[in-house]
Amino acid sequence: MSFTKTTLALGLAALAATTPVSATNIVASIKPIELVVKAVAGDNMNVSTIVPPGSSPHNYSMKPSQRRALEQADAIFWVGPNMETFLSRLLGGKEFAGKVLAFTESTSDDKDEHHEHGHEHHGHDHGNGDDPHVWVDPHMALEMAKAIHAKLSTLEGINTSELDTNLKDFEQNLHTAEQRIKESLNQLEGTSLFAYHSALERFAEHYELDLAGVLTLNPELSPGARHIAEVQNKLREANQPCLLTEPQFNRQWWRSITEGLNVTFSTWDPLATDIESTANGYIEFQQSIADAVLECLPK
Ligand SMILES: [Zn+2]
Ligand SMILES: [Zn+2]
Repeated sequence: MSFTKTTLALGLAALAATTPVSATNIVASIKPIELVVKAVAGDNMNVSTIVPPGSSPHNYSMKPSQRRALEQADAIFWVGPNMETFLSRLLGGKEFAGKVLAFTESTSDDKDEHHEHGHEHHGHDHGNGDDPHVWVDPHMALEMAKAIHAKLSTLEGINTSELDTNLKDFEQNLHTAEQRIKESLNQLEGTSLFAYHSALERFAEHYELDLAGVLTLNPELSPGARHIAEVQNKLREANQPCLLTEPQFNRQWWRSITEGLNVTFSTWDPLATDIESTANGYIEFQQSIADAVLECLPK
């Protein structure tokens, strides 16, 4: 009797080992979210991203194959209706309810405003709570990681203790990186930072950097002449002005605005295009922003 039982058990174990386990499929809207997902999920889940390198999440159009990926996903993470507007209707609908998680919510009164939203989870007070580029703030990234952890833990066949460990590691590594970055950014005392669009705001706020001017709140719209003149004035009066441009946007355009002024340029990438998608990717992303900002130091 007991012999038969053992044989059966062994047989089942062998079967389980050879049958491919269907991996968990996760879809992230943009690369930085993919990096936070990787930090929490580890290597055993498939993570794909909708907005490809070189495209802007502000005005992306989805391919039919990506819609299918959404249908097949076990979990979907995106920033929210004020960021990836192209996903608002689809992900806000009934079809994906239950497997979608947005990190920010739409402000109901200002639906048409591009960069407007409220965020509830932030532990420390930032002056401007509306900017939807939440992922550049390490504090917010940790909140995102916790929300991802909670969501993934509800999925079937998930090793939750592994997720717990991953989240703990991420929190610790992020904290260490944050301290290191904070210290290195102290050198920027006396430098005035300017940015093309508002994506840098939450990073600057978090690390208490002097972000003296932002040219446009919506990268799809050209800023008005009056606002350009305002920023030019600030640039003229600034101590060691430094402009942070982004690879997605036209650098030449900046040049014309800064003509005749002594301005340092540096490029940073809020979409983490060149960062390898690993569990440590988000930390590297934070460091890459800090490195770009440190390029502003006088040589
Ligand atoms: Zn943006
Ligand atoms: Zn913060």
